[in-house]
Amino acid sequence: MIYPRVALIGLGLIASSMYWAMKRAGEAGHVTGYARSQETRDTARRIGLCDQVFDSLQETVRDADLVVLAVPVGAMGAVARDIAPHLKPGCTVTDVGSVKRQVIEDVGPHLPEGVHFVPAHPLAGTEHSGPESGFATLFDNRWCLLVPPEGSDADAVERLGRFWRALGSNIDVMDPDHHDLVLAVTSHCPHLIAYTMVGVADDLRRVTDSEVIKYSAAGFRDFTRIAASDPTMWRDVFLSNKDATLEILGRFTEELFALQRAIRTGDGEQLHAYFTRTRAIRRGIL
Ligand code: NAD
Repeated sequence: MIYPRVALIGLGLIASSMYWAMKRAGEAGHVTGYARSQETRDTARRIGLCDQVFDSLQETVRDADLVVLAVPVGAMGAVARDIAPHLKPGCTVTDVGSVKRQVIEDVGPHLPEGVHFVPAHPLAGTEHSGPESGFATLFDNRWCLLVPPEGSDADAVERLGRFWRALGSNIDVMDPDHHDLVLAVTSHCPHLIAYTMVGVADDLRRVTDSEVIKYSAAGFRDFTRIAASDPTMWRDVFLSNKDATLEILGRFTEELFALQRAIRTGDGEQLHAYFTRTRAIRRGIL
């Protein structure tokens, strides 16, 4: 058993998927879970999520070898502050947040000497949330990026890597700022653009009498699936990864204006060349 006792804080998509993946891997020794709401605790108990479910952070992290912060990025700091006095010396605290620099700054200072902090980000998810949305195969063959702050304990990092491998992931280690820039391109800005497209369609619906949504063709459906994602999680992602997302949005806007101009001026050559280049790139992504 890599970690005999694991505590999961925030029983949503990621934490529940981790639990089922731990079960499948034979890595669920004793697992506790914390949820704020009675409804989530009732649901967790009904579906057998965790060995024990608590409404107390203190009870949840008591004796845990690994504590996983699986709450929205904006809530990580407050949770770290509240669990800090109750952590077992020598334990590892990790998180699964979609932004890393801000989480490291929010969580790190609260943790006592002798507790290892190894931030991580599993690059796996769906547009669903809550304790019933999790499933054991979510992390299979997906990357999990470990983002250890400078001076992290090498054994603690290696052990967390083994744990994520047991849950099905491939592991890479990344610097936090680089992580935040890469994720701004691959995940954060695409979500913002999908949200925007749905907003535009909804505005238009008032003009076209609901036809946009009713007849939404494959392009709109495929492209906007991720706009059904949790609003709290995504609000926090943008507020916490402000610099990188603004940088990428600036570049995106420039490209969009260039294409807009090509359409207005009838520059088919430019459009064709652009789409040919991007098709080749997109086809290279499995
Ligand atoms: P989720 O909405 O399914 O679950 C989050 C849970 O945290 C909810 O049960 C919520 O009630 C609880 N919560 C919120 N604020 C809290 C607080 N202050 N204290 C205690 N509990 C609180 O979300 P999720 O998709 O499991 O996301 C969890 C984390 O994982 C986020 O930081 C997110 O950035 C990250 N993440 C999400 C995805 C994804 O695609 N959904 C992928 C990778 C990482």
